[in-house]
Formats: sequence, structure tokens, C-alpha cells
Amino acid sequence: MLDNLTQRLAKVVKTLRGQARLTDENISDMLREVRMALLEADVALPVVKDLVARIREKAVGQEVVGSLTPGQALVGVVHDELAALMGGATASLNFATQPPAIVLMAGLQGAGKTTTVGKLAKWLKETQKKKVLTVSCDVYRPAAIEQLRTVTGQAGAEFFPSTPDQKPVDIARAAVEFAKTRYFDVLLVDTAGRLAIDQAMMDEIRALHQAINPIETLFVVDAMLGQDAVNTAKAFKDALPLTGVVLTKLDGDARGGAALSVRHVTGAPLKFAGVGEKLTGLEEFHPQRMASRILGMGDIMGLVEEARRQVDEDQAKEFAQKLKSGKGFDLNDFKTQIAQMRKMGGLSALMDKLPAQFAGAAQQMQGGADDKAIRRIEGIINSMTPAERSKPELIKANRKRRIAAGSGTSVQEVNRLLNQFEQTQKMMKQFSKGGMQKMMRGMKG
Ligand code: GDP
Repeated sequence: MLDNLTQRLAKVVKTLRGQARLTDENISDMLREVRMALLEADVALPVVKDLVARIREKAVGQEVVGSLTPGQALVGVVHDELAALMGGATASLNFATQPPAIVLMAGLQGAGKTTTVGKLAKWLKETQKKKVLTVSCDVYRPAAIEQLRTVTGQAGAEFFPSTPDQKPVDIARAAVEFAKTRYFDVLLVDTAGRLAIDQAMMDEIRALHQAINPIETLFVVDAMLGQDAVNTAKAFKDALPLTGVVLTKLDGDARGGAALSVRHVTGAPLKFAGVGEKLTGLEEFHPQRMASRILGMGDIMGLVEEARRQVDEDQAKEFAQKLKSGKGFDLNDFKTQIAQMRKMGGLSALMDKLPAQFAGAAQQMQGGADDKAIRRIEGIINSMTPAERSKPELIKANRKRRIAAGSGTSVQEVNRLLNQFEQTQKMMKQFSKGGMQKMMRGMKG
């Protein structure tokens, strides 16, 4: 995900780092790169124009002061503006209502609505301790009702049955009544989608919205749609007062531009990201993290969360603690991380979450063959002694030659890995001193 954007921006960031000062001219050069990167990632042109204009305004202003390089300052500005574009703070579901909190799902057929209802039911039940009821108003496809019944069962929530001969509004009203009398906390209402925007669908969902007055109206959209996601979002936004967006299929090779455009177009915050077909494939959407990830800083917090969920609890705790203290994160940990990451769904997931320095190292080493490259890195680390892994600065030239020979790599590759590790360690220390937010503010001087 977001590979092109990440790589392009990483290049911009690198150029920036070499600059002694920001001038109108080099700002323009860099903004051109940013602009191209965003357009390539399928971000809508008006959104790009807006974003670039805001970055320019802030970059040229008085904020570029202090001992840090102007390049770093501009990275900070780009990060903040990217995050702001995606909504700034993390937005969650609103339950501030007399129960049940009704959540209406809207979106095209195939966007992932039914799957998302199942995921949300699970998330609400397990992490929010809510009593959840689901209902399908898709009377056009009996299979859709069955699908919802199945995922609801898997999520351990309750399902309100409906049949194709009923009217969607009647189904929804009956479900609301049932949820009220049985003291459900949340009612998730799945609806019918069409393959493309059509008037009948819009009329129907508008009628549903009026009938049940949901506290949340979530627009579900497939990140792979690219530019089309924006057009769809516009149509739904015109028909319904959206309160949030769920961006699905972010685990695929979507170029990610949708994440940057949809908020802008709908005015509604991105609340969740779908990252897999399974019911566990749902994440709360964090604009700050997504921005860091786009800039190639790696989704460290996402990594920790995932580690918590899927890997041996103790190891995960230890890792989180090390990240937090900023101390002692060494190549031994990195080695463990690689092994754990294998458990978590393989290398593409890993490459996505690692700081760009490592991902970049892997790619450079083997021309993009991720699996092989990671094995080379692993090989290098394995050829070091545990002491060297915990204090890589101890590794002298003769040991580098031995390590290269032992791992079938070259001294250059060993050096590259060590440099990149050092960079990352620095970043983690920064990070631990008060989070990414503070780090970015720090960059602005
Ligand atoms: P609906 O028509 O909007 O209800 O869409 P579905 O929930 O039936 O999903 C359509 C297809 O997309 C199914 O094959 C889902 O498994 C798949 N899908 C949904 N969400 C995700 C996701 O986050 N990642 C991936 N990879 N597939 C997803």
C-alpha cells in the first residue's frame, strides 16, 4: 500500500535533508515532487492543489527557525498537513445517545459493507464490551442476508432476521424496536448497494436514514477504487449526512490516494480501515500514523498494536516497553521482530509497517525482491554475535568482513544495514521522548 507515494516522498524528504536553507526556488522544486507523488497515488487534483498551497504557505512562513534544518521543518509541515487532510485527530464512533446507538452503513455493492458490519460487531463486542445487534436491509440479494447472518455469528453478536419480501424501511424499524426492548447498545444496519450510483438506491437509503435517524452514518468505500472512490463519495455525501468513512481493502495494492481525498470530499472523518477479509482485519484509522507511514517513518504504533494482538503477549510487552523507553532496542530485537513478523502475515505486511530505512535497505539490496532481501538482512544479523547485535557500534572493519562473508553479502551491505539501523534507533529515541507529535513539532523548531 502507498508504495509509490512513500517512495516519492522519501526522495523528497532526502533532498530536503541536504538543503541548507529553503528558498522560493527549492520549495517549488520540492513541492513539484510532492504534487507528482500525490497525483500518482490517485489523489484528486483539487485536493492536491489545496494541500500543496497550504504546505507552501506554512513553509515559507516564519515557522522555519531554530537550529534544525529547513528541510526538516518542511517535512514537519508536510506531515502535519497530510494528517490534517485525513482528519487530524483520531475519530471514533459516537455512542452518545439513548441506546441503541444506530449505525447505518452506506456504499456501493462490493465495497465491503457486510464484511465491515461483521468486523465492527466483533470490535464493538470485544474491545468496547457492547451488546450488538445486526440487521440486513438488502432485500435484493438473499445471499446478502445470509452473509450477514454468518459474519454476525462469527463475531459473536446477535442477528435480526429479515426476508426478501419485506420493505427495507419496515425491516429497519422492526430491528430498532427489537433492539430497544432487548437493551442492545448498538444496532448495525447493513443496506443494499448497487454496482454504480443510481437514483433508486439513493432514494432508498435516504428513506432508511429518515426512518431510523442513526447517530452514525458510515460510508464504506473500497480504497482500490482510486479516483472513482472520490466520485462515489461525492454522490453519497450529497444524499446523506455522513458521519464517518470506512476505507476498506487497504491491505491490497491500493495506491492509497483515496485515504487522502475522501475526507476532503465528504467532510466526514475516516474512522476505520479495512485491512483484510477476516473479521480481525479492522483498524481504527489514525491520521497521524498514516501520515508518518506515508512519509516513510513506519507505523511503529500500528506495529505494536498488531504485535499485541497476534504475537506472544510477553514478547510484545517487552517490545512495546523498549519502544517506549527508547533504550535498548537493538539488532537482537530486530531479529526477533523479523521472526514475529513472519507469523503476522508475511513480508508484505512487514514491509508496510517497517520504517522506510529498513524497507529501503531491503529493496536496495535485492532490487525489490522483498523475501530475498529480508533474508539477506536476517543473514547479516545472524552472522553477528549477540554482543555485536546489542552494540553494533562495536563492529570494526575486520568483523564486518567476516560478517559479510558469513552471510554471503558484502561489506557495503553490512555498512548500509548498520547505518540504517542507527538512523532508526535515533528515530525511536525521538519518538519515545513524547511521541511522533512532539517529534514533528520539534522538527519545526
Ligand atoms: P458489500 O457488497 O458492500 O456488502 O461487500 P462485502 O462485504 O460482501 O465485500 C465484498 C468483498 O470484499 C468480499 O469478498 C470481502 O471479503 C472483500 N473485503 C471486504 N473488506 C475487505 C478488506 O478490508 N480487505 C480485503 N482484502 N477484502 C475485503
